[in-house]
Amino acid sequence: MADWPLGYDDLEPYYAEVEAVIGVAGTEGANPFAAPRSGPFPMPSGAPMYGALVSSAAAERLGYHPYPAPTAANSVPYGGRPACNNCGFCAYFGCPIHAKGDPVAMLMRAMGTGRAELLAETFVSRIRHDGHRATGVDLVGPDGTRRSMDARHVIVAAGAIETPRLLLLSELDHPLLGRYLMTHYQTIVAGSMPFRTYAERGRAVTHVHDDMIVGDDASRAAAADAGLPWLRGGMVEHSGSGLPIMEAKHMPWGELHPRIMADSAIRKRLWAFIMQGEDLPYAGNRVDLDPSVRDARGFPVARVTYRPGRHELVASAHYGPRLREILKEMGSEWAALSSSPGPGNASSPEAIPESRHNMGTGRMGTDPASSVVDPSGRLHQLENVVVADSSVFVTSAGYGPTLTLAALAARAAHLII
Ligand code: SF4
Repeated sequence: MADWPLGYDDLEPYYAEVEAVIGVAGTEGANPFAAPRSGPFPMPSGAPMYGALVSSAAAERLGYHPYPAPTAANSVPYGGRPACNNCGFCAYFGCPIHAKGDPVAMLMRAMGTGRAELLAETFVSRIRHDGHRATGVDLVGPDGTRRSMDARHVIVAAGAIETPRLLLLSELDHPLLGRYLMTHYQTIVAGSMPFRTYAERGRAVTHVHDDMIVGDDASRAAAADAGLPWLRGGMVEHSGSGLPIMEAKHMPWGELHPRIMADSAIRKRLWAFIMQGEDLPYAGNRVDLDPSVRDARGFPVARVTYRPGRHELVASAHYGPRLREILKEMGSEWAALSSSPGPGNASSPEAIPESRHNMGTGRMGTDPASSVVDPSGRLHQLENVVVADSSVFVTSAGYGPTLTLAALAARAAHLII
């Protein structure tokens, strides 16, 4: 473990700034564990999902503290975009009406200024450098044409897998580059209710609880039993399953399939909890260049090596049954417990995490020997290259990483100016 080189007070103004830019809807004071805020949410919370109201009531009866999840979906018209209509296709999809404060919304604003240019289907293959400064980038265009572009500053925001890949392709050789990959170790409990949950409508997750991040006497006892100094779980998402293709893949194929899909017992009755468990940074979990596999343009692809550690397995084993208790309190007829990656061996497909919360691989710190970027996001090795994504995370916390990576990017942008 290592400490972040900045504190919450350093970042809070940028959280507030990016919440206003992205457009976040939330309810102040609803989460007793929330960090202090300098101002209100830009919008009030949107409509709750019916199933989340029932699961939140069950969680409250067991002593937990669910609250409306702050969400980058417009609850009212905001930023020139309409209010969300709770269509049900929020997770995994772009928003068909641009109610979501996703990267497309921010990109449209940038393009609308007339001061940004987007080179579509263009791949940056290398950052050129001379001494301690980058001089530009090499590009491959959509037709395969290669060219170079000079630059005073290079901002890398390709995510915790492609950012280290680009830096490695640029022959940067910091020994920690690509290391400490974190993805959130998910613990998932799903069960069937004797009533309709209407999980196919809404923003996929409208309620969460943080009690399993904070911990209690039971988690401290479980940690002590396992010889660990502490256990950290993660934010628990109250969610259903409204995705027909995902559902279809789990249904028997053949003549029965259309009838089962039309009846859709899973879509109508399933409810689930997904704990985004904090996974610790291990040097062996990493991204490097694959020695044999190349992409369509001929460049080595990123190779990902990841295996959960003892902390993640113990935390999941501790909190999973507690999540199942909440589902039972909600009325579930059955409940199944799993994790992502699953408990299989490293070569099993289950060992690949389903979480898209990729973090680490270019950690931030003051000491160039133990970190890849400095506290402002600049590479220690190249003073005019800034990493503005979740690569710089030192720990993964148990929260979705997007607002923090956006706040760090905003802070880095202000510091460049
Ligand atoms: S639920 Fe999500 S995808 Fe659907 S309208 Fe709302 S923000 Fe857009």
